[in-house]
Amino acid sequence: MMYKIESAKVLKEIMANYFLGMKSTEKKYAWCTSVGPAELLRSFGFEVHFPENHGALLGTSRTAGDYIPESSKLGYSNDICSYMTADIGSFLKKETPLTKHYQLDGPPKPSIIVYNTNQCREVQDWFNFFGKELGCPVFGITPPRHLDEVKQEEIDDVATQFRNLIPLCEQVSGIKFDIDRFRETLKLSKEATDLWKQVLWTATASPAPISFFDATIHMGPIVVLRGTQIAKDYYKVLLEELQGNVNKGIGFLEKEKSRIYWDGMPIWGKLRPLSELFIQNNAAIVASTYCNSWVFDAFDERHPFESSAKAYTEIFINRSESAKEKILSGLVHDFHIDGIIFHDAKTCANNSNSRFGMPQRLRETLGIPTLVIEGDLCDLRFYSEGQSITKMETFIEQIESSKVLI
Ligand code: SF4
Repeated sequence: MMYKIESAKVLKEIMANYFLGMKSTEKKYAWCTSVGPAELLRSFGFEVHFPENHGALLGTSRTAGDYIPESSKLGYSNDICSYMTADIGSFLKKETPLTKHYQLDGPPKPSIIVYNTNQCREVQDWFNFFGKELGCPVFGITPPRHLDEVKQEEIDDVATQFRNLIPLCEQVSGIKFDIDRFRETLKLSKEATDLWKQVLWTATASPAPISFFDATIHMGPIVVLRGTQIAKDYYKVLLEELQGNVNKGIGFLEKEKSRIYWDGMPIWGKLRPLSELFIQNNAAIVASTYCNSWVFDAFDERHPFESSAKAYTEIFINRSESAKEKILSGLVHDFHIDGIIFHDAKTCANNSNSRFGMPQRLRETLGIPTLVIEGDLCDLRFYSEGQSITKMETFIEQIESSKVLI
């Protein structure tokens, strides 16, 4: 029988309600980067829209290619973030897949726009574009970048920037800052992120009950609804199902011939064929940098500003090469990984870790094969499917033969 995660039905309903909620004209929306201070914004009663989530939707629906050229006309290079260029293009063309799925004209109008450059500088240009177009106030958080370890002075710097956001939020929302509300929101976020981590870590079992491809779908609530009861409740349900499957020895593959780690962005428009390719080859992609990005161990409602500043500054993408290598090595060990695939996404240097020799170094230190494939998150012109499939199939064979030799 084909393996299915039953909780997906609940997920579908939750995500539909999230998007359908955007029809309301009563709610005030904040736009926020995917690893921006969503909890602080929610504590002022804002609903939160994440433009990157819309970018991913443009990727999965394979409509990004229709919109990127619109951004190019404004002078945005084809080499910069295709979430950004697709999202801006969709706005300029006044089209969105949200219309087909949820009868929405577009993303909700923002009352405030907030970005955090902990992930990349692109978000600054992207969000400022919309601030100007929509006549909306924009607030930027600019933490120190590419850190080895996150020091107290860096946490203090970012916590101060978070605090500096309060007067603007009060002015726009008409609601006075309430530290208890912030604490409650952060607590909910912490509980959801802990559950999300446990969900991902069920894949340390073999056979794994959730693949990287499944996780890119099930991560929806931790991205767009963190800080709400809904996200927390969902991950309880999902975790229970997956733990049940682990106990019964059921996974998405009956027998895993190899276990692989995926580094870098998903190729949103190719999730299904890629998932099928690996399943056909009995290769399990069981962990990824991308899905782990919404694990925020440091959240602590007793110190809401400092702990959220720490959590959002210590994310993988904001770390030095050597810190990233340490984190990856730990994951390779915990998830019993036989090989790593690095996705070199043409338009996201920030989330492509293969450009400064990391695959070679990890191959040497960990003694496992690594592969680099070229592609992109949304712009499929950069993904050569036939060539990549051949590379990945050869890589899987290589892993299997290296395991036989051991
Ligand atoms: S991290 Fe990459 S994909 Fe995400 S917004 Fe920045 S450039 Fe785009």
